[in-house]
Parts: sequence; C-alpha cells; structure tokens
Amino acid sequence: MVQVKAIKAFSDNYIWCISKPDSSAAWVVDPGQAEPVLKYLAQAGLTLEGILITHHHYDHTDGVNSLREEFADIEVYGPVNSPFKGITKTLTEGDVITVLDTEFTVITTPGHTLDHICYINPALAFTGDTLFSGGCGRLFEGTAEQMQCSFDKLKRLPLACEIYCTHEYTQANLAFALAVEPNNRDLIAYAQWVDEQRKNNKITLPSTLALELKINPFMRSDIAGIVQHLPDQYNSFTKNTLQNNEPWQNFAGLRAWKDHF
Ligand SMILES: [Zn+2]
Repeated sequence: MVQVKAIKAFSDNYIWCISKPDSSAAWVVDPGQAEPVLKYLAQAGLTLEGILITHHHYDHTDGVNSLREEFADIEVYGPVNSPFKGITKTLTEGDVITVLDTEFTVITTPGHTLDHICYINPALAFTGDTLFSGGCGRLFEGTAEQMQCSFDKLKRLPLACEIYCTHEYTQANLAFALAVEPNNRDLIAYAQWVDEQRKNNKITLPSTLALELKINPFMRSDIAGIVQHLPDQYNSFTKNTLQNNEPWQNFAGLRAWKDHF
C-alpha cells in the first residue's frame, strides 16, 4: 500500500507525494512548483516516476516541465480535455491507472474547471480543487449543477476514504460552514481542532468522506434546512425557476454566498 506525504508549495498548496516504505519510487500530484518537489525527493532519497494532474490551473501544472527535465520521460497523467499541453497520457471517466502498486479510478468532476478529474480508490482520493475540507472549488468554468454531479460521484466513496485536496483552505471554509450551520455540533468540534492545528502551523489534511458528509455544506446540499440561513440576495439561485429545491440549486445559492463571504 502506498503512503502519501504533503509537500508545501506557494502559500497554501499541497503537492501530494505518493511512495512506498520499501521503495525509492515516487509520484506527485499537481506539482505547481518544481523546486519544493526536487528538494523533498532529494531529502527523502526518492526518484520521481510519474505525475498526476487534476486540472489545468498553473498552480497545479507549472512545475511539470522542470520535473520532466530532471526525470527524463516520466509520464504525466491528466484529463483528455485539458488545455494544459504537458500531459503524456490522457484520461477520462472510468479509466483505471496504477501508481506504484495501487490502482486509482479516474472520475470526471467538472465545475471548478471543465477538465477537472479526481483520482480515487476505496482508501484514497485526490480531489484537487473540487472537494476541499469544508468547502468546494470556485465555479470558474462549470455550473453548480455540474459541480453537484461531481460531488455526488465523490459521495459514493467509502466513508473511511481519505480526502487529499490541494489547498489548506480548511479554516476559512469552516468559518463559512459555521454561518450555514451554526448549530452543527460535528462542525463546531472540527472547527476547534482545525483552529488548534493552524495555530501551530500544522496541516489539517487529509480529511475523510465521513467527516465531509457531516461538516461540509456543499456535501450537505440535499439536507433539509441547509439554506435556512442563506441571505436573501442569494435566494434567487435556489428558488426562482423550479418548484422544488433541487440539491444543485441549494449548492448554487451556497456557492454564490461563499463567493461574497
Ligand atoms: Zn484550480
């Protein structure tokens, strides 16, 4: 089984390094910068064998070319419809890849971008900028309905599945989540733990699917009353076109509120 370690990049990105205790081979997910990866690999005595890309944004891809210069001919896996040109093996829904000795299934998760994919198996999920702990990515290219579908796919993972997203956004996400659900006891307890971690400059990831289902408002868009505290100016996203509130309409209202929070 593989192990996953965080390499810090930019101000709040994590580049996830996948390796095994008995091997010097490693993969990285979304290397937006090469330097911290090269430094980490050298210190850990690891050799890069491949790269996984979740979507085209620069803070997920800018380190790819330098890493391929350093480690010749390694594969770069990424979405088939990506504007990023550095992908050597293109992937789409249902593809299964092997990273070291571990299989991952590819799911398409449009919303944040149209090319976004996640790499999942029952134990681990690399969710990029789709599912964050306590939040979700901004809708730069896709719609709330698309993002709701993407979240529905992630909800089918086992409860114990570990969620590895790209950003340390948890604390800010939970401030918003508490505005949505001020009486959610699981959320209040998690926010206290996250505050403690961040006070000590410690990582809050990975999360688990079980935890996200309890505390993440975007995972909870199908729960009765989830939009009860939504300010009036965002109600149009949830109510104006259909008689019944669909989960994606709640999702849209919550996302619009978060954009201005
Ligand atoms: Zn992004």
